[in-house]
Amino acid sequence: MKLALHWKILIGLALGVVVGVGINLLWTSNTWAAMGVNDVPTFLGAPSDARATAEAPGGANADAGFVADASRFVRNANAFIGDLFMRLLRFIAVPIVLFSLIAGVASLNDTAKLGRIGGKTIGIYLATTAFAITVGLLAANVVGPGRGFPEELRESLRESSAADASTRIGNAQDRPTTWDVLLDVVPQNPFTALATTEMLQVVFAALMVGIGLTMLPKAQAAPVVRISETMTEVVIKVVHLILIIAPYAVFSLIVEVLADLGLPVLGSLAKYCLTVVGGLAFMMFGVYPLVLRVLTPVRYRRFFGAISPAQLLAFSSASSGATLPVTMECCEERLGVKEEVNSFVLPIGATINMDGTALYQGVAAVFIAQMYGMDLTIGEQLTIVLTATLASIGTAAVPGVGIVMLVIVLQSVGIPLEGIAVILGVDRILDMCRTSCNVTGDCMVCATVAHSEGALLSEGEARERAASVGASDESPKADDERERAYE
Ligand code: ASP
Repeated sequence: MKLALHWKILIGLALGVVVGVGINLLWTSNTWAAMGVNDVPTFLGAPSDARATAEAPGGANADAGFVADASRFVRNANAFIGDLFMRLLRFIAVPIVLFSLIAGVASLNDTAKLGRIGGKTIGIYLATTAFAITVGLLAANVVGPGRGFPEELRESLRESSAADASTRIGNAQDRPTTWDVLLDVVPQNPFTALATTEMLQVVFAALMVGIGLTMLPKAQAAPVVRISETMTEVVIKVVHLILIIAPYAVFSLIVEVLADLGLPVLGSLAKYCLTVVGGLAFMMFGVYPLVLRVLTPVRYRRFFGAISPAQLLAFSSASSGATLPVTMECCEERLGVKEEVNSFVLPIGATINMDGTALYQGVAAVFIAQMYGMDLTIGEQLTIVLTATLASIGTAAVPGVGIVMLVIVLQSVGIPLEGIAVILGVDRILDMCRTSCNVTGDCMVCATVAHSEGALLSEGEARERAASVGASDESPKADDERERAYE
């Protein structure tokens, strides 16, 4: 039986959770030590002090060396698959944006329309980000995860992550200003932008080439347009190939994170984590479907059925940048967004639209303030909305950046930065959740803008197309059917 891609990924994810948590629990209960395996510094990233404190009853035997070697091998093989997948996604990110955007803009043949799409995209992105952070602030004020937080617990959590936190705070201080970020959209050298994966700069360069092509006589532009179209098809094929290993990669990535996750830390920050996750779920499963219902004909099942592979990959990788090729594939091939909108709205979204991150920053700011007994005034909370919305523009779409940008948010209202160390232990797991929300938000805006521009297939056409493409289970026959759907 041929399972759909999202089911395969979901199975990989579920197995990864079971194995990852299993390894984590084995470590904390020193079961490995009881087996006499004492000389392994870490296994799947398990804390080395667990190893150091482990005692081998009766001393290590010859089997222990073998188990140690085998566990090291499994760990390396596991990391290899996850890293390979992430590399492949990054490998395809620049070509997919470059070629599909050139082809899309050239086929649009209308610069006024382009300006309109750009205005709507950025406007909706900023509005949803401001809304998301407001939801975060409200949720944290109502739930009060930091009220009455035990001082000893706060100090012990803070001490355990103090060094890591000060590095991140240091990184935030070196950050460019919003003006620099805006100026930086224009590359000084487009080839450097391509080589260093500066996504907004790549978008700018591709836009310029696309616009230039529309200004040339058709016959002169045709060869470049044709090459861009063909290259777009090629990179989409490569994405399908990469997706073949997605379920295994998701398993590897999840095992690696969960094996290393401090479960006791998660328990002591449960109220805070649940507030963040609850807020993210509200955005993803409440607000976005509602916006789609009001502004587009896209309904719940169609939306989530189409974008679930991207959501699951975002969750596993904690990087909306690395997920971008899959997000583009899902929106175009499964949701039915036409290329000219898809290739423009999504790369910009991956870079500037961070609803999940903004919401998380709202909760984190209030949580830390409450923990230190500070009451934030309405004015201060509005400052947080403004700062976090602007900060989201400059937040890179890679793991762990949200907490670095949180420094700017905390600074804007004078909340103690040392609070960052308290929440650092659970950052990775929340990063995974917020990245999933970030990507869902990008897809929602993409569908909304596409519908308003008449660039969204009807549900019937999209279903036909999605069925014919079947994500990575694509057959050659699917291509003809896909072409027909667009005709
Ligand atoms: N990891 C997030 C993303 O890539 C950014 C963050 O919140 O750290 O979208």
